[in-house]
Amino acid sequence: MKIPLLDLKTQYAQIKDEIKQAINEVLESQRFILGPKVLELEKEIAAYSQCKYALGVSSGTDALLLALMALDTGHGDLVITTPFTFFATAGCIARLGAKPVFVDIDPVTFNIDPQKLESLLESMTNEELSRVKAVIPVHLFGHMADMQSIVPVCRRFGLKIIEDAAQAIGSECPFNGAVRRAGSVGDIGCFSFFPSKNLGGFGDGGMVVTNDADLCEKMKILRVHGSNPKYYHRIIGGNFRLDEIQAAVLLVKLKYLDRWTESRQKNAGMYNQMLADVSAESFRTPAALPGYRHIYNQYSIRTAKRDELKAYLKENGVATEIYYPLPMHLQECFSYLRYKQGDFPVAEEAALTALALPIYPEMSREGLEYVVYCINEFFNPNS
Ligand SMILES: *Cc1c(COP(=O)(O)O)cnc(C)c1O
Repeated sequence: MKIPLLDLKTQYAQIKDEIKQAINEVLESQRFILGPKVLELEKEIAAYSQCKYALGVSSGTDALLLALMALDTGHGDLVITTPFTFFATAGCIARLGAKPVFVDIDPVTFNIDPQKLESLLESMTNEELSRVKAVIPVHLFGHMADMQSIVPVCRRFGLKIIEDAAQAIGSECPFNGAVRRAGSVGDIGCFSFFPSKNLGGFGDGGMVVTNDADLCEKMKILRVHGSNPKYYHRIIGGNFRLDEIQAAVLLVKLKYLDRWTESRQKNAGMYNQMLADVSAESFRTPAALPGYRHIYNQYSIRTAKRDELKAYLKENGVATEIYYPLPMHLQECFSYLRYKQGDFPVAEEAALTALALPIYPEMSREGLEYVVYCINEFFNPNS
């Protein structure tokens, strides 16, 4: 049996007519940039994310860049984040001339460890603290970081929070006795509509969300080269616009997002149950902590035999992926930061042991059972 990591063709087949009609409306209107579809999508994503404001942008990467620019991040500044993330999180910090400062992760959720964040901040001099522009927690694989612990720590030190919610649209965490959605807890939330994300466009796209009217206004201006009014520039921005065809596609897909999320959660439940008795040393299925809504952008298991298991599954037609094989602090381009092997042992271990299994919504029960069968065969060949 062949099991891909993601099956976008099957998903498209189910919504083809609606999508074609939506794209056709854009073609007929001949409005391609920041038109009515982008406005409508911004409204819907703001509501979906429990935020007042949303701005469509050109990618998840540009969402992060724009958020950092809105906080005036630049040379000499420090921005704190996790070393176990997609490159864009750290890359955007460095591109603005600021210095990424890493904090190790929690071994269960793969997200930034609030205790270690607090220890780092407490160990900083006042001079260093004055240069910290923001903290960027990443809600990795669709499970939110522990915002209940992170937010008070950041507020105590007067720090802004940018949520990297590129993998986490619609995920939730417990917060002050309530439940809050990804993007609504910090000062700015960043989403990606890269095709493989849970809400994926037909190309690049992203969104920033915020409850802060001033930040929204600033990002709106930065999105069009800092132009306000047109052709007059008090600040330097860029072209960070979302195009109308992407918005049209995303508006159709957004209607299905909760259904797709439920399917992913159902698949995760089946995996959890069926993989519960794999008896292999250090084998672990991913956890969803109580009170959290995990949207399973990825279902990442842990095993010391990760590379062998990946190769075995590949031989048997099952696609998997390693997110992520090398933590940020060990990337060659960040060698100037002078981190070394051993600085963030939990992230380093995750990089050696994590493996994402197929969990896409359209996956059949038989397909999932086959993946489990192969995993069992790998660990217990003759049983
Ligand atoms: C995908 C992703 C991004 C970047 O989004 P793009 O739309 O691909 O630019 C940023 N951070 C994380 C954690 C991501 O997974």
